Amino acid sequence: MICLGIESTAHSFGVGIVDEQCRILANETIMYSPKQGGIHPREAANHHADKGPAVLKLAMEKAGISKQEIDVVAFAQGPGLGPCLRTGATMARALSLTLKKPIVGVNHCVAHLEIGRGMFDCQDPVLLYVSGGNTQVIAFANGKYRVFGETLDIGIGNMLDKFGREMDMPFPAGPTIEKMARDGDQYLDLPYSVKGMDIAFSGILTAALAKKEKHKIEDISHSLQETTFAMLVEVTERAMAHLGTSEVLLGGGVAQNKRLQEMVTIMASERDARMFVPPGPLCSDNGAMIAWNGLLMNKAGVAHDISETKVDQRYRTDDVDVVWR
Ligand code: AMP
Ligand code: MG
Repeated sequence: MICLGIESTAHSFGVGIVDEQCRILANETIMYSPKQGGIHPREAANHHADKGPAVLKLAMEKAGISKQEIDVVAFAQGPGLGPCLRTGATMARALSLTLKKPIVGVNHCVAHLEIGRGMFDCQDPVLLYVSGGNTQVIAFANGKYRVFGETLDIGIGNMLDKFGREMDMPFPAGPTIEKMARDGDQYLDLPYSVKGMDIAFSGILTAALAKKEKHKIEDISHSLQETTFAMLVEVTERAMAHLGTSEVLLGGGVAQNKRLQEMVTIMASERDARMFVPPGPLCSDNGAMIAWNGLLMNKAGVAHDISETKVDQRYRTDDVDVVWR
């Protein structure tokens, strides 16, 4: 069985092709970068509509398969930006109808977790999902994927990008902040904002920006990472303790950060747990994870009618009917 998956929840447009053994036959992604400011949803959607067909063509070439060999078409149904989601969904519907193959709408956050389970020998991990728009701690419990903790305001990646924009760093700022932080040697006090199992980033962002005049950018970057990553690790560890889980998986673009990986590794080893992190292109938003989750769903009998393929900007992780587990 071969599944083609389309990702277009935000600034990335991706097409991935996977088989039943979770072999990635192709995983092509293109990213829209705003000329200034944050993502403009309609401009991002126009970018996806414009570049999407070429990404699809390239993915098909890389996989070395003909269109008729595709058994299932999957797409990210949400959560995400409406115009971007609709562009991907439209392409998926067109493919499904012309190829006469089933279509499956996938929850983007759950796909980040499932690709880790598919790639690694990990059975039931707690996922620390850290991306531009999302920050969630997710795990499977009592038949559903549940959110154990999440951001109360903005996603951590979004916070890093906003910080970077004020500091004249190129977009996306995460990798630059990581590099700067390595040269920081002074820890500056920033508000540590964990509320129960939830976290908040906007106060820290304001506090970090207020240090701009008096402190080195390296020290601010270092302190920003240390504080926010410690918050993430605390909530993740508490979810693991609550569930008695000995596996932790990282996902989302920010998961590529080596310092975050190191902090999670330390926490995991102290609990005799194992840590997994997918390679870069499978960490950030990509079509292969959508394809893999779609394949699991279809194998479990899910095929959506076109009338059920409306996108859902606020598609909640715990709204997913997990028929494949
Ligand atoms: P995603 O939304 O999952 O595609 O991830 C995009 C986000 O990941 C952006 O906000 C980037 O700034 C962030 N990001 C990418 N690489 C890194 C890194 N090495 N460290 C921190 N954040 C990163
Ligand atoms: Mg994502």
